[in-house]
Amino acid sequence: MKIPGLELTNGYSTLPPVLFSRVSPTAVRAPSMLVFNFDLARQLGMEVSAISSAQLAQVFAGNVSLEGADPLAQAYAGHQYGHFTMLGDGRAIVLGELRAATGLHYEIQLKGAGQTEYSRQGDGRAALAPMLREYLVSEAMHALGIPSTRSLAVVASGESVMRERELPGAVLTRIARSHIRIGTFEFAALQQDREVLRRLVEFSVERLYPELNNSSDLGLDFLKAVIARHVRLVVEWIRVGFVHGVMNTDNMAISGETIDYGPCAFIDRFDPAKVFSSIDRHGRYAFMRQPAIMLWNLERLAQCILPILRPAANDSKAVARAALQEFPALFENAWLEMMRGKLGLCTTGPEDEALALDLLEWMRSSGADYTNTFYQLHPNKPCSEELSQDPVFKSWYARWQKRLGQEKNLEQSSALMARANPGIIPRNHKLEEALNSAQDAADLGQFQRMLKAVSQPYDNESRLGQASEYTLPPRPEQEVQETFCGT
Ligand code: AMP
Ligand code: MG
Repeated sequence: MKIPGLELTNGYSTLPPVLFSRVSPTAVRAPSMLVFNFDLARQLGMEVSAISSAQLAQVFAGNVSLEGADPLAQAYAGHQYGHFTMLGDGRAIVLGELRAATGLHYEIQLKGAGQTEYSRQGDGRAALAPMLREYLVSEAMHALGIPSTRSLAVVASGESVMRERELPGAVLTRIARSHIRIGTFEFAALQQDREVLRRLVEFSVERLYPELNNSSDLGLDFLKAVIARHVRLVVEWIRVGFVHGVMNTDNMAISGETIDYGPCAFIDRFDPAKVFSSIDRHGRYAFMRQPAIMLWNLERLAQCILPILRPAANDSKAVARAALQEFPALFENAWLEMMRGKLGLCTTGPEDEALALDLLEWMRSSGADYTNTFYQLHPNKPCSEELSQDPVFKSWYARWQKRLGQEKNLEQSSALMARANPGIIPRNHKLEEALNSAQDAADLGQFQRMLKAVSQPYDNESRLGQASEYTLPPRPEQEVQETFCGT
């Protein structure tokens, strides 16, 4: 079948064959379209208005193949909770890639499309609730302005999948600049074939870092660029209170897009040690451990590409180490810049870091809501009655007001804050409610309402009242204590 405007190719299949295996999706029994992202389809140049929902469901369940598709599963390895494992797309199949009007390539991948060479004991399938969860959270991240894979569709398979119990099955269509992970490099390095590694680096650069195409020190420049992009990414996660939850190296895209929405969650109260994932017993991936883990993951990448780093100069370890040693300072600077944004500081001052840290410390000790505290700050409005009762907050507020006095233009401060502080994040308790009603009652009403709300996370002062369903923190009994991978 042909979708007008969609020209599929597959650059990945030009890579050394050890990096993938060709496999077609396994058809499902009774596909039906649950959610389709018409805006995204349009942005990608697809013309779907003349295609029925039933036909789209057939295509995005993998039952009917797309013209030009060259479906394959990607090989990768990875460090999961610090331990090295062989992995690969066990239930995801890349149909091909398209080139958008912007000139950028995007891969189209079906997740839950059946078994592949890398399935191990798995059934190759996905349950409905985790796929809806990925759809909503990835689209929310995109709306928050954070690099992320996108979601084009969720199709119910009409089959059930066996997990702890029988659950409805689904197939998610994921769109990514690339699915190459740090784990892909770990797999390539294992081949002990410099050519495989070189091709993978060159392909990654061509697709994701074209500004490096003419570099005379490609390996090193690539490493530095990946580090820079991941510093920005983790700072953006912190800005909105996002806990990825499973930052294994196979879940870190080399593109710097957030990928793999398993047990991820957003903090309500500010707590640097917050962990949601049921299997993260030691808090390896806790909220404010994410920068350190990001660096750990980048170290794995650096190790993999050593063989092609400066082969002539013979100083690969030293230059890799030097590049990685930049991480803490890059992070600190980016973090402070981000916090200045949240506080409306367009200029820089020596007290800014302490100002940010002291507010966070007050939030931590008082149990204040992270999102709402920042959202309620306003450069030229007094703080709420309730907050002004708190002496610690009150004195912090006076310091902040004094610091704002050094700003030239409070309109600008206010605009900066409006871009840095969302009013709406996908709160865990609301998401859980929406997914339960989709899974247990086949009712997507709540899901659709929430999707709409999280798609406009900013500049919603006038909507704060109306949207309070999504802006209120959970009551104690609503709090989500644990999230699950759902694989
Ligand atoms: P994830 O936890 O989604 O990052 O997946 C980790 C690894 O397990 C990847 O190699 C997946 O492809 C694989 N995997 C997860 N679920 C399944 C499944 N139902 N069938 C086959 N492989 C799976
Ligand atoms: Mg994964």
